[in-house]
Amino acid sequence: MLTDGFSRYLIDIMPVSMVVLTDNQITYANNAAAILLEADNASVLIGRPVSDFVHPLDITRSNNRLHRQSKEWSNAPQQFRLRSVKGNLRMLLVASLTIEFETKSAILLVGMDMTAQSEISEQLRISEQNFRRLFDNMQDVYYRTDAKGVVLMVGPGVRTVLGYEPEEIVGKTAESYYPNVTDRDALKQAIARDGKVSDFGGQMVRKDGRIIDISISSQAIYDEQGAFAGVEGIYRDVTQRKMLERELQRLATIDTLTGIQNRRAFLENAEQLFKSSQRYTTGITLLMLDLDFFKAINDRYGHLGGDNVLVKFAQTVGQELRESDLFGRLGGEEFCILLQQAPREDAMTAAGRIRERVQELVFNAPNGELFSLTVSIGVSTNREDDERLGKLLERADAALYEAKHSGRNRVVWKD
Ligand code: GH3
Ligand code: MG
Ligand code: MG
Repeated sequence: MLTDGFSRYLIDIMPVSMVVLTDNQITYANNAAAILLEADNASVLIGRPVSDFVHPLDITRSNNRLHRQSKEWSNAPQQFRLRSVKGNLRMLLVASLTIEFETKSAILLVGMDMTAQSEISEQLRISEQNFRRLFDNMQDVYYRTDAKGVVLMVGPGVRTVLGYEPEEIVGKTAESYYPNVTDRDALKQAIARDGKVSDFGGQMVRKDGRIIDISISSQAIYDEQGAFAGVEGIYRDVTQRKMLERELQRLATIDTLTGIQNRRAFLENAEQLFKSSQRYTTGITLLMLDLDFFKAINDRYGHLGGDNVLVKFAQTVGQELRESDLFGRLGGEEFCILLQQAPREDAMTAAGRIRERVQELVFNAPNGELFSLTVSIGVSTNREDDERLGKLLERADAALYEAKHSGRNRVVWKD
C-alpha cells in the first residue's frame, strides 16, 4: 500500500510522523518524521535503528512493544520520549501496525507530536507539586469558605495553630472558633467593604480552650457572574508577637527600678486627667515628693543601698493610694502623685499619712546599721485658670520647695 506513488505522496504531506521499520531499522520515514526528529531530510534516517531515537528511560518499553508488535497485528497508542538528531526531547504518541512493505513484513509507526501538551502538563504538575509543598508545610493556616462561611478547605497548619485535624474543621462555619462575636463581625464587614483584609487582628479559641491572638489576611472570591462566593486567605498565630508587643509597651511605661510609672507615662496620663478635669470642672490634686537628704544615704550605704530605699519607698507609698490615683517616678528620688476628686482636706490627710508611713520605715544597712528616711511633699490642686498641666506642676513644685526650706519632713499646700 505504501509503494504506489499516490500513497507515498499522501503520506509525505501528512502532518503526522510515519516511519516503517524492517527488522527494527528505519526503511522509510515521511517528511513529518524528519521534521519531528530534526533531520535535514527523511533519507538521513534510513537504515538507522529506531532505538537510536528512543529516550533511554523508554527503551525497554519500546523494545517490548516492537517485540509484541511482531506477533500481534496492532497495539494501543502509547507515549514515548524521543531524542531528535540534535538531541532535543520530544514526546510522541505512537500507534503501530504490522504491514507488508516492499514484500517484507514490517512495522508502521504513526506518531503524533505531544511535546507541547506534555510540557504544559509537566508545568502543571510542577506547579501543583509546589503548591502542595507550600500548602502542606506552611506554618500559616490556609482556608477557603463558601458564601455562607462554611469552610471548604483548610491547610494542615491548623493542627498546630488550633489543635484540630483539618477534617474536623471542613464543613463547619468558622464562627465557633471566634471567642468574640464582634471580632468575627468586624472581619466580615471589612471584607464586604474592601474585598480584602491584611494583617487583621483578632482572637481564636484552640481545641484545648486556650485563646490565641491571630492575624488574618484574606480576600473575597466571586463566581463568574460576579456574585460573592466566599473567602480565601490565611491566618497565623501571633500570640508570641502580641505578648512581646504588650511587654514592650509595659516596659516603655514603667520605671524598671520601682515598677511604678515612669516620667513619660505619668505625665501623659496626668495630662489626660488634667484635660478632662478642666472640661468637667472636677478637681485633681498633685503631690510632689522628694526624699530628704538622699545624697547622704547614697554616700553612706552606696548607690545600691540607695536603690533599695527607693524601691521600698515606692512600695510603701503605693499601699497608701487608691486604684484611681496615679503614681510615677519623675526622676532620681523625685516622685509625683495625682489624686482624683480629692478636696483639699482629703488630699492633705493623704499626704500627711504618706509622710508618716515613710518616716516609720526602718531600713537595714548591709553593715548592720538601722536607719530611717523622711520625705517632703508639696501639694496643689487645679484652678480654673490653669491653661495647662504645667501650671499645676509648677505650684506643687513651689510648695515642695517651701517644705524643704521650712525644715523638710513636712507637707505644704499652695493655692
Ligand atoms: P534634699 O533634702 O534637698 O532633697 O537633699 P538630697 O540629698 O535628697 O538632694 P537631691 O534631691 O538634690 O539629691 C538627689 C540625689 O539622689 C542625687 C543622686 O545621686 C541621687 N539619685 C538620683 N537617682 C538615683 C538612683 O536612681 N539611685 C540612687 N541610689 N540614687 C539616686
Ligand atoms: Mg531631688
Ligand atoms: Mg532629695
